Amino acid sequence: MQPTLTAVVRTGLTLTLLLPLAGSRLAATETIAVPSPPPVQGAQPDPQVIAQFGLLDNAKLQAYIDQKGMQMGRISDRPADVKGFTVVDSPIINAFATPDGHVYFTRGILAYFNNEAQFSGVLGHEIGHITARHGQKQQTRSTAINGAILLGSIFSKRIASIAQPATQLASIGLLKYGRDDETESDQLGVKYSSKIGYDPASMADFFLTLSRTEQSSGAATVPTFLSSHPNSADRYTTVKKLAQQAEQQAGRQLAVNRDQYLRLIEGLPYGDNPREGYVENSVFYHPDLKFQFPVPEGWKSQNSPSQFQMAEPNGKAVQILLPAGNKGLDETAQALAQQLKLQNAQAQKTTVNNFPALVIQGDQVGQDQSGQQGVTASTLTYLIQDGQTIYALVGLCGPGTLGTYGSTFQRTAQGFRRLTDAAKLNKQPERVRIKTAKAGQTLAQALAANGISSKRYDELAILNGMKTTDKMTAGMLFKVVGK
Ligand SMILES: [Zn+2]
Repeated sequence: MQPTLTAVVRTGLTLTLLLPLAGSRLAATETIAVPSPPPVQGAQPDPQVIAQFGLLDNAKLQAYIDQKGMQMGRISDRPADVKGFTVVDSPIINAFATPDGHVYFTRGILAYFNNEAQFSGVLGHEIGHITARHGQKQQTRSTAINGAILLGSIFSKRIASIAQPATQLASIGLLKYGRDDETESDQLGVKYSSKIGYDPASMADFFLTLSRTEQSSGAATVPTFLSSHPNSADRYTTVKKLAQQAEQQAGRQLAVNRDQYLRLIEGLPYGDNPREGYVENSVFYHPDLKFQFPVPEGWKSQNSPSQFQMAEPNGKAVQILLPAGNKGLDETAQALAQQLKLQNAQAQKTTVNNFPALVIQGDQVGQDQSGQQGVTASTLTYLIQDGQTIYALVGLCGPGTLGTYGSTFQRTAQGFRRLTDAAKLNKQPERVRIKTAKAGQTLAQALAANGISSKRYDELAILNGMKTTDKMTAGMLFKVVGK
């Protein structure tokens, strides 16, 4: 990691944790209070995880993962350690476990599973991180990460270069596991999954899906920088072998349950939920809060309930939008300068498309990686007042690089304006829809017959775990996405 990135990351953590937010969720009405003591023993989801991702409101799916999770917890090596299961409202493809014994699935990963056995394999992998107590090991190894520690992410090698700032800026640190821990969890996933009656080879198939999502750059709904896992292909081979042994040991037919699973996810939101903000043609729109602004060309972006992050492709600069309370521009500016530990901060009154605003420029001071006190980042921040709400657009880059990135930060902030376009305001999420194939159709033909644009065939082939040229049988279920 570059020292400058560390600085940026640290800043982000500080900012995220300390800025007096008017409710931590970037939504019109909701306020989530984050209590300071951790929840009891992981039976309930961690409030910090929920603040970052949001809960998925889907009783049927929640009941399903509760049931399978408890069933698997009971046959695991440490039943008492496995506490709870939650589906979070994020389009990112991921699953993770926290050291308190709670397992999380994103709706993103649930959309990509194609049968119960794939789900079960990943469930087993996450439960494996808990029962092998990888989290406890990680906690003692790492002291740098504040807040909840998410561990056992299905993507062990999460982030390289660019992804670092964008992800770690979030209030929750994501731990990277070593290869040994991941391998052990894969083994336990095979063991637990076959023990509750599912074909563990399907878990291997899911690694192929992961590897395809990593390679596809076009799928806007899959932030590939968050899901980088270069080892998926290797894991496929290893897990396939383990699965063969497990199948022989089981001595019975293990279940895959494709149709059951697909019917379960009918109607699941797919991709970003536009009500909470979305990017289209390099513009970020927030229909509920009724504003829009441009995203720098070529930058990666990630939306979460509490903030919207944009990152320069090489990780050299980030710009983050977050709500900054309702205390007035001057008071917010002072708080911000303090929390960012700015020196020589200068604030200037301005307006941004008729919104009152303040521009704050300054150098952030702190300790660099070698422990020296000095400038760790440069910042150009806009505070924009919309009625009672103040939005902060915080631009951060390496010391002395404001000359390079300042104009980009400015363009974004000065493009902030009221969203009035009805089509953008009324945009609804896409949903997974389950359709039935006719005999002899290829997947591409079946997609075409359901009005899917040919531009999306590859994306939907990955979603279905198939190739566009695969032949379907009569009555075979498959996924499309639509309203
Ligand atoms: Zn893992």
